[in-house]
Amino acid sequence: MAETQTTAPSVIPKTAPQAEIGVIGGSGFYSFLDDVTEITVDTPYGAPSDSLFLGEVAGRRVAFLPRHGRKHHLPPHRINYRANLWALRSVGVRQVLGPCAVGGLRPEFGPGTLLVPDQIVDRTKARAQTYFDGEPLPDGGPRPNVVHLTFADPYCPQGRLAALKAARGRDWEPVDGGTLVVIEGPRFSTRAESRWHAAQGWSVVGMTGHPEAVLARELELCYTSLTLVTDLDAGTEAGDGVSHEEVMRVFASNVDRLRDVLFDAVAALPDPAERDCVCARAHEGRDLGIELP
Ligand SMILES: [Zn+2]
Repeated sequence: MAETQTTAPSVIPKTAPQAEIGVIGGSGFYSFLDDVTEITVDTPYGAPSDSLFLGEVAGRRVAFLPRHGRKHHLPPHRINYRANLWALRSVGVRQVLGPCAVGGLRPEFGPGTLLVPDQIVDRTKARAQTYFDGEPLPDGGPRPNVVHLTFADPYCPQGRLAALKAARGRDWEPVDGGTLVVIEGPRFSTRAESRWHAAQGWSVVGMTGHPEAVLARELELCYTSLTLVTDLDAGTEAGDGVSHEEVMRVFASNVDRLRDVLFDAVAALPDPAERDCVCARAHEGRDLGIELP
């Protein structure tokens, strides 16, 4: 992969607006941009997965964050999701696109399928999934209030429309809607687990979509998931089961067109100042006990 031209990392004040849109995905998405600036951002929850890589796409300022770190050293259960979303918001991001690799739970959702889910099921076991747990911030900051968020529709409706339109514009007919079930990992599902997921009517299975989506909502960020099917899950396929090598191979072979779709989706997102969606008013003005970054 091509080396990205970057400037030296620097810590910036969390209020300096540097980007409006965040993309949580690896170097395959930003290494082709002409001018990328690398910045490090600290948060009350510790460091995010990596530096933020700032660039411009279709006239919009975008912050790219490699979810697993640039060397892919963080497994899904060790990603600091709270730091990642906090860091993005602290540089000005208000809309987030979260592409991820998933397994298909139906035979018709084979490798190469692009599915934009509208629902999520949390089957993770040990992840911090709220900023509002009634404890002082980990860095000794103020104590957030206890908040129970409405989360009936976990994804941004405007973001989903932008993603669907972008995919169709690239002749990649997406599956519009479906349920992403998120497992703890890092292992893949057993056949029994996979058959159970499929029997529930769920569509695809992954390891990173939660708690990303709910943490974004807690920060009043628009969040849209774009799932790329890299394999049929163990209960759906007839072979030896899912392998990491297969997942990486299929993801790599689709990364170019997924990047095209992401960039077109960036261009199609509404102006953040004109956000008219549930995400932007998730807290409805309630007292949070902390200020969002
Ligand atoms: Zn939204």
